[in-house]
Amino acid sequence: MNAMHHRYTTRVLTRLVEANSVNPGLEAGGPGEAAVAAVIASELRDMEAEVMVDELAPGRVNVTGVFRGQGGAEGGSSAVRGGRNLMLNGHMDTVGMGGMDAPFGARIEDGKLYGRGAYDMKSGLAGMLGAARQLVDSGDALAGDLVLTFVADEEYESVGAQAVAKQWGAGAAAGERRGHVDAAIVTEPTDMHICPAHRGFAIYRIVTKGRTAHGGRHEEGRDANTMMGLLLAELHGHARVVPRRRQHALCGSASIHVPLVEGGRSLFIYSHECRIMVERRTLPGETEASVREELEALVARAAAADPDFEARIELELWRSPWEIDHGHEVVKALQRASVGVEAFRPGFIGHGWWEDSAILGAAGIPSVVMGAAGGGIHQDVEWADLDSVAGLAELLYKTAREFCGVVGRAR
Ligand SMILES: [Zn+2]
Repeated sequence: MNAMHHRYTTRVLTRLVEANSVNPGLEAGGPGEAAVAAVIASELRDMEAEVMVDELAPGRVNVTGVFRGQGGAEGGSSAVRGGRNLMLNGHMDTVGMGGMDAPFGARIEDGKLYGRGAYDMKSGLAGMLGAARQLVDSGDALAGDLVLTFVADEEYESVGAQAVAKQWGAGAAAGERRGHVDAAIVTEPTDMHICPAHRGFAIYRIVTKGRTAHGGRHEEGRDANTMMGLLLAELHGHARVVPRRRQHALCGSASIHVPLVEGGRSLFIYSHECRIMVERRTLPGETEASVREELEALVARAAAADPDFEARIELELWRSPWEIDHGHEVVKALQRASVGVEAFRPGFIGHGWWEDSAILGAAGIPSVVMGAAGGGIHQDVEWADLDSVAGLAELLYKTAREFCGVVGRAR
């Protein structure tokens, strides 16, 4: 990495952090991605990429930049012609400002850049743009395409990544299809470790049924709240069992808890219904069916304690866990490219939180997470380590060479 490229990633990260992109789904008045998307689109145009800007909703934008490889024909898989296509992906939105002072100040001190989104994950976006900058400056012609996707709304409903999955995934519809990629690197922060796996989560609503009656008529009433108590006792015990039984080498343990309980309408009335929300953090390998089965077993145990017990389970939201084959070519390309990259940290890690890589993975785009170092994710003091951002750019550039192949000099 040279000093010029270090200055480039620092300058770009400064501009990205100065552009407020708080997700309006998380904080009222958050402007969304439009301003940061404009910065990215202008950088990509400067580098003569093919640039596409998609407005998904007012102020909610995806930006795509394609650096066409010489072996990658439009609409076809370059793999056939001797090169592979690689996607780099990152989200442009951030969580709210919280109690930050100067959330968009982008102050630099001791090699750290401070501000909302500096680490999660404008550090990754700067790394992606820095990789493209190095590719362009090197004059290398790749065999396959390098596709950069900058997406909206990861912190809330991931509409941006879902649009990318429709445009580039294996099952993309003819009208929406933009092309084919063989793998993706999601540049969420990993402190410069390769992250091949992350946990998922599932949110369920469980409802117990009672029978409404005057509080003085116990022979008519059935209490949905104490019925739920039977199930809550089962869940309490189960919460201790799950982390012991379900473990993963990189992601740690699965877990389950009950963030919300709500039941009954009034004093002096038997509660007709009690509702709980159950949050289950899942590990790679766990499926919607296997988690539901687990909950059904708990309901069955509660039912065994009272013949009148009646409950239904509804899935509210499922976000898949994800793990890429550790021997996948994109993982190997990262490992080969890491030789000589000072900021790189050996050893795989797993993330406890969910990421867009699961959406890309489900769409048939094998994805690995690799990002910069820093701290204060979703907290009041957030920062990115500038050497690691420059190191990430260098690593991604070298990985693109490894993965896509180099056929010579451009133009
Ligand atoms: Zn993130």
